Amino acid sequence: MRKKTHIVAGLIIGLLIFIVLRPFNLIFINHFFEFIKFIILVIISSIILDPLEYGFFKGHHRQLHSIFILIIPLMVMYFNFLIGLAIFSGFLSHIILDLLNPSGYPLFSPIKKDYYKLYNKINGGIKLGSDGEYAIFSLSYLF
Ligand SMILES: [Zn+2]
Repeated sequence: MRKKTHIVAGLIIGLLIFIVLRPFNLIFINHFFEFIKFIILVIISSIILDPLEYGFFKGHHRQLHSIFILIIPLMVMYFNFLIGLAIFSGFLSHIILDLLNPSGYPLFSPIKKDYYKLYNKINGGIKLGSDGEYAIFSLSYLF
C-alpha cells in the first residue's frame, strides 16, 4: 500500500479509537495542542514500519508487520496513554491494510511462519496502486 493510503487509514482507525474511548475518560485531552500531537503521532506511526524495515533488515519482507509489534505501543501506553494509543492506532492500521495485499505475509512471525491475508480468492487482494487501493483511498475520504 502507498504512504497516503496508510496515512488515511491510520487517521480513520486513530479517530475511531479516540471517539470510542473518549466517554470513558481514558484520554485526557483538554487542549487542542494535545489532539494535534495525537494526530501527528498517528500519521508518523502509520508509515514508520516500512522505512524501519528497510533500515534494520535491508529489505521489505514485513518482519516488523507482526502482530507482536503491537506490544511496544501497549507498553508505551503504561507510561503515556495518549502517545501509546497513537502509535497503537498507526501500527494496527498499517498491519490491517498490508493484510489486504494479495501476497499476504507472516502475521505471527517469529512464532509462526505461515502467510496470512484478508482475501482468500485466487485473484483476490488489493495490489499496490491498483483500482482496489484507489477505491479504499477514495472511500476513506468519506469519513
Ligand atoms: Zn508495510
